[in-house]
This record gives sequence, C-alpha cells and structure tokens, in this order.
Amino acid sequence: MNTRKRQYALVISLIVLVGSITTSLIGYFVAKSSIEHRLQDEMLPLTSDNIYSEIQRDLLQPLLISSVMANDSFVLDWVNSGEIDSIKMQRYLKQIQDKYETITAFFVSDKTKRYYHSSGVLKNVSSDEEADSWYFDTKKSDRDYLINIDNDTAEPSRLSIFVNYKVLDKKGQFIGVIGIGLSLEIVEELIETYQQKFGREVYLIDATGKVMLKSSSYNDNALIQNDVLSDKLMKDILSVATGSFSYSFDGANTIYLNSRYVPEFSWYLMVEQINDPAADGIESALIFNLLISMAISGMTLLILHFASRGYQGKLESMATKDKLTGVYNRQIFDSLFNQALSTTKRRQQSLTISLIDIDFFKRINDNYGHAHGDEILKSVIELMKANLRQADIICRWGGEEFIIMMSDCDENSAKRTLNMIRELIAEKQFHLGNDKVKITISGGVAEHTHDETMRQVINRADKNLYMAKNQGRNRVV
Ligand code: GH3
Ligand code: MG
Ligand code: MG
Repeated sequence: MNTRKRQYALVISLIVLVGSITTSLIGYFVAKSSIEHRLQDEMLPLTSDNIYSEIQRDLLQPLLISSVMANDSFVLDWVNSGEIDSIKMQRYLKQIQDKYETITAFFVSDKTKRYYHSSGVLKNVSSDEEADSWYFDTKKSDRDYLINIDNDTAEPSRLSIFVNYKVLDKKGQFIGVIGIGLSLEIVEELIETYQQKFGREVYLIDATGKVMLKSSSYNDNALIQNDVLSDKLMKDILSVATGSFSYSFDGANTIYLNSRYVPEFSWYLMVEQINDPAADGIESALIFNLLISMAISGMTLLILHFASRGYQGKLESMATKDKLTGVYNRQIFDSLFNQALSTTKRRQQSLTISLIDIDFFKRINDNYGHAHGDEILKSVIELMKANLRQADIICRWGGEEFIIMMSDCDENSAKRTLNMIRELIAEKQFHLGNDKVKITISGGVAEHTHDETMRQVINRADKNLYMAKNQGRNRVV
C-alpha cells in the first residue's frame, strides 16, 4: 500500500516535472525562433537596405563620373582626330582627378592600346599580359562597365578599386575603356563606418563567392573566405537576389547572414551577425524556468507525500476509532480479537474479555443532559486507560458499554485490575458544572477457553455483567 502511494506521488510529480520542462522548452524554442526570425527577416534586411543606400551614395558616385567621362564628346573627338596630342588627354584626366579627388583617372584606346594617365602614356595594354586582362574583360563584357580591384598601373604597390567604363562611338563601335580609380583604403574605411554604424559585419563578394571588399577589422577567422561556408550554402546565396541564411561556425556559434545582389557592381552585399545577443537572455530564462520546474515538482512530491500520509492516517482512524472517546469501535474489534487470539495461541498465553457497563447512566443523561453524559463517558475512558497496560485494548461496544481485551492475562488478574478501576471510579468525584457526581460501573469477566468463538466468550462476559447488575451493581463478576 505504501509503495503504491509513493509510486502515485512519484508519477504525479514526474507528470508535473515533464509538463513544466516541456512548457519551458517550448517557450524557449518559440522565443528563440521568433528572435531568429526577427533578426533574419527584419533586422538584417533593414541593415542591408540602409547600407545599400549608403553604398549607392558613396560608391555610385565614381560610377557616375566614369559614365560622364565615357560619354564626353572631348574623348570621342580626340580619338577620332587620331590621338595626336596626348598632352590634351593627360590634362583632361588630371582635371578629372583633381576635381573629384580620385587617386587616378585613365583612358585606354582600343586602336593604339595606349594607356593614358594624367602623368603620360604609361604603357600599351596587351592581351598576352595577365595584368591587362581587365581591359579585355571589359571589352568583351556585354555590360557598360566592370569594376575590379587591382594594382594601380600608375603606382603598382597600391591596390585600387577601378571603374572601367566602355567608350563607344556614335555608331556603338568600341573605342576604348575610360574610368577612375579609388583607393581601396578609403573604400574599406567606408565599409568600416557602415560596420560600426550598424554593429554588424559588412562585406561584398563577387559572383564566384570571392570577398571583394571588406573592412580592415573584418573577422578573418569566421567568414566566407576561409571556406567556412559550404559549397551548397554559397550556391544558395549566389542564386537569389536577396536572402536570409544562417550557418554554424565553431560548432557553438551561429552566424546569421543577409545577402543582397548589388547590380551596379555585380557583387553581393553581405551583412552578418554572429550569435544573436537577445538569445543570451532567453537562455538564462530557460535555465531559470527549468530550476523552477524542478523545485515545483519537488514540492509537489513532498506535499503529496505528506498529504497522503496524513489523509491515510485520518481515514484509518475514522474507520477504526470511536469518535467520542477515541477508543476502538465495534467494527474493528473482530480483527483485533483474531490478531490477539492467534498471538495468544502461539505463545500459549491466556486472553480475557471483560464487558463494562456504567450503572444507571440514563439518570446522568436525564439529570444533567446528554452533553454532560458524554463528558462522563470520556472521563471514565481516560481513567480506565490510565490504569490499564499499553497492550490492553478498549473498545466501545455500544452506548456506555465497553469491552476490555487483555492479552497474557487470566481471569483472576483481569478481575483484580477491573476491581481496582471500579473502586477508583466509585471513589472519584465527577464534576458536571457546579455539581459533583458519583458513578459506578459493573463488569463481567470471561477468560477465553480453547476453541471458543469470539461471540461465545463475549456472551459469557455479558452473562457475568448481567449477574453483576443483578447482584446490585458496582461489582465485577
Ligand atoms: P444500568 O446499565 O445500570 O442498568 O442502567 P442504565 O441507565 O445505564 O441503563 P442502560 O445501560 O440500558 O442505558 C444506557 C443509557 O446510556 C441509555 C442512553 O441514554 C445512554 N447512552 C448511550 N450512549 C450514550 C452516549 O454516547 N452518550 C450519552 N450521554 N449517553 C449515552
Ligand atoms: Mg448502564
Ligand atoms: Mg448499557
């Protein structure tokens, strides 16, 4: 019974524990995914939009300048007149360079393959030379311009970003490539300002996934150029104009990534964030919730344990005890008797049953009321309990009649004990309000004999009680 009870308590606590852990986890994952969604679907795209408009403002200007140069009638006229005065072209390029504060301005004529710069004709481009491939790439391209990052022909140690714009004549014939160059450092600083302004990693990749522009504080360990991205993810990124992605890095960290195609450069603007700072908060909330769940389950277990213990005890006593006097009731006497009888037989001892009845109890009730009668009943029981052994059993047999069952006690000793109690009661003054009342009891004793049933031995005790009453009461027979 007890193990069953414990099992119930355990099962209920487990249900509470599993239930609350499940809700905590569901809450955690819901919060996490909503934060992730917010980051991926709102915050990063918004940052990307902002950076894109800044890029348009900052980097499209060189494109515009190059476009103006490509359409300048001076260039066309000068080429058509046979590229005679190279000083004129030098001066033109110098003027552009000074006006727009670019680090270089150039023109390459397709007819002569000469590379014009503000400082003169620097070289002749050749399709055999790897360093000149940008020129032939631009010529071949079906786009109006190409942007590339390269060592500057005018100053080979310097990496620059070039806008290479096609120059076409009025019939659309290719005449050459014109454009300007910007210092890569300046562009990197620009990227860095975006990065600081928006608190996220910003860089640009070309259509092959190569990082083209990045800030100087670019986190080299984490990102794309160290092949952290799987080929598949890279393919996914390059296959859409805008997209939100996430990938894990280092096993522990997640990188949230927004990509956007920048058609002016044919590059992709990437905005990244390593781990979501908001996730820290929900993680500690999860731990807190789990601890609370465990505490609540523990408390449930404890409460159930104590509640069922108390309840069980109460039920037991309700079923076996008399409400008024607290001694055993008649219903339980059967089993008490059988228990006592088997012990008695095993130990070969004697078992004695006595019936006690209060004399003229009706008068007490009549004279003092039922409630006072109850008080007397309780006092008599207290007195009997005080003068019996712990092992002796008192049972309320009915009304003001009690059975006293004494194990390991023969008829004579029982009679002695009962007479002692009888005398004590007879001498006692019972207080009922201001009145003092004297009462007496009568008793009938019967020692259990071999093979006698409970009914039989009680009947004999009852007969003796009847005799005691008949012989004038206040006696034990
Ligand atoms: P006697 O036994 O000496 O022959 O006389 P008696 O007056 O005691 O007669 P009897 O045993 O027949 O009456 C018992 C009375 O006890 C009847 C009833 O009013 C009273 N009684 C029974 N149970 C209770 C109880 O729980 N409380 C109170 N106050 N009185 C009870
Ligand atoms: Mg009586
Ligand atoms: Mg009676």
